[in-house]
Amino acid sequence: MFGFDAYFYKNRVLIEGAGQYKTNEILTAFLEYDFPDLRELLESCKSFERKLHYPETIDEAARFDDLVQRGIVFFNTLDEMIDELPPYRDMKQKHNSLFELMNEHRYFFDNEPDIDHYENHPRPEYNDHFYTDLTFSDLDPDMCDGALQLNQKLRELVEQYRVFIEDCIRVKTVYAAFLEKVHEGKEYLNARETVEIYRAFVSEQKERIRTYDKLEPSGTMSEVFVPQNIDGELVLCEKYRFSTLGGFLYIDLFKGLNNHFLPRRCGLCGRYFLLEATAYSPFCTRSTTDRKDKTCRDLGHRKTYADKVNSDPILLVYTKAYKQHYARYLKKKMSQNEFREWADYALELRQRAYDRELSFEEFAEEIRK
Ligand SMILES: [Zn+2]
Repeated sequence: MFGFDAYFYKNRVLIEGAGQYKTNEILTAFLEYDFPDLRELLESCKSFERKLHYPETIDEAARFDDLVQRGIVFFNTLDEMIDELPPYRDMKQKHNSLFELMNEHRYFFDNEPDIDHYENHPRPEYNDHFYTDLTFSDLDPDMCDGALQLNQKLRELVEQYRVFIEDCIRVKTVYAAFLEKVHEGKEYLNARETVEIYRAFVSEQKERIRTYDKLEPSGTMSEVFVPQNIDGELVLCEKYRFSTLGGFLYIDLFKGLNNHFLPRRCGLCGRYFLLEATAYSPFCTRSTTDRKDKTCRDLGHRKTYADKVNSDPILLVYTKAYKQHYARYLKKKMSQNEFREWADYALELRQRAYDRELSFEEFAEEIRK
């Protein structure tokens, strides 16, 4: 259900039925998506995984329709969320899968409770309800086989949703933490630095038991090479078949590590953006809320410089003096040559202050002249 075929080429990926994406564009969207409480969703999903099977006791039989109804609502709510996320939003995803699956096996169930006169009440084309008072041990061997089949399909269905939720948890915890490490410096990492950070990160996770707490793929994947027409050009593409989203995100992440296509959290607005192998920046290019004509990148770099100035008294004094002298030049109280001479001298003074040839007080007094 969540599996797909993907063709990788350079820094792009073509997903069958969903079109083209940049490397790690999908991971960025998942990092950025405002999920409901994923741990809570996971617990609910596991609870359905344990309980959704053909009733084995009279108690289970009595509560079965209620369980199915809650399941239909729960999984349809997940479908709505998944419809907002790439690549699924561009695919024609099947909805209402639990309802459909239950209807494939509706010969087990009554649409209304306590009705067994089928001549007067022909079965509807679709059941809305799934009542039964027969438990598993009441079924004849043929029906037993059918019930086992139903159980297996229910298990597979719920498992796919459970793994999807786990994949989302892994993105929000493990992937986010790993990317923080990758972006600790102020530059793209080279191959050796990448290996070191990856090694250290993975060794910290050794003791963890759950796969969604680790930087690992989920599901299965297979790979073949196929000719593919990309932008009018016939090229040999790597074609992967992923059974889960988690398998795809894993491969895509490492491709991005190699070709510098990586999600990063913006140092100003805190949202994720995709670095695309161009100049490294800790800031995104969204326009800021205060000033629509400025992006985080415009304001962020200015802020970084301002922070630096404010934490460096020598630089602060130098910057003030520079602005004063520049204003004098603009008001024509200084000629261009005088200003240039002063600017060179000011730089020299600043360096002497850094080298402690001048005390801070001497420097501050001299540069104001
Ligand atoms: Zn930003």
